[in-house]
Amino acid sequence: MDDLERLADAIRRADTAVAFTGAGLSAPSGVPTFRGDDGIWERFDERQFASDRFRRDPAGFWTDRVALHRAMFDEEYEPNAGHEALAAMGRDGNLEAILTQNTDGLHGDAVGAGGERTSDGEPDAAGETETTVLELHGNSRRVRCTDCGNRRDGDPIVERAAAGELPPTCECGGVFKPDVVLFGDRLPDAVLRRARSLARESDVFLAIGSSLVVEPAASLPRLAASTGATVAIVNLEPTPCDGIAETVLREDVTAVLPRLRELTVA
Ligand SMILES: [Zn+2]
Repeated sequence: MDDLERLADAIRRADTAVAFTGAGLSAPSGVPTFRGDDGIWERFDERQFASDRFRRDPAGFWTDRVALHRAMFDEEYEPNAGHEALAAMGRDGNLEAILTQNTDGLHGDAVGAGGERTSDGEPDAAGETETTVLELHGNSRRVRCTDCGNRRDGDPIVERAAAGELPPTCECGGVFKPDVVLFGDRLPDAVLRRARSLARESDVFLAIGSSLVVEPAASLPRLAASTGATVAIVNLEPTPCDGIAETVLREDVTAVLPRLRELTVA
């Protein structure tokens, strides 16, 4: 048995397998990354998108946010073979949850209407679902009213801001904020609690496309390992958690995840 076959076997036997994903999974879909040479923060000043700027100057924040949104979503992104493989594993009953650092919403697209998508750590009212998608840092394609908490598709709100409604507001009078964790925001407690409990419950914890450096990414694999989970890492670069992983695969996510999925149903 090779590493991938052993991992597939562990996933098949697991009561609870959980995937944790980062920017490396969305990169093959063409989603721009924030950090690094070609990253968004080379072109934009990240301090202008911090939560204290939003509170101090929501109109200015939204002016800059319109430009950022256009730079980030200048094309339609599609889930890639890696997202699709994880969604398929969920439908097969082999993947309980996908925790993601990504805010592009591509896991939700891949899982489709049958899956639960949540950014607040609470199960959706939709109920009967196969796979939980927990967006740890929110979803940059949505906005949320800072007063009543209503969530909306972000595109029409960005268009309203672009047309001069600064800042764009909800019917209740509250200001809309991108539904993401901004610099200076804490991850919502409910989200962290749910992520930690899924990591603890997991028999297999699969970390994909994340450098596992920032919290909570850094501690979730260790938490899973501490309660006996098999940890596997798929990432092109080494991570600080490689030492606790049973399997480390330095392979292209769009190649390795479909193979893994096939092996779990073979
Ligand atoms: Zn409102």
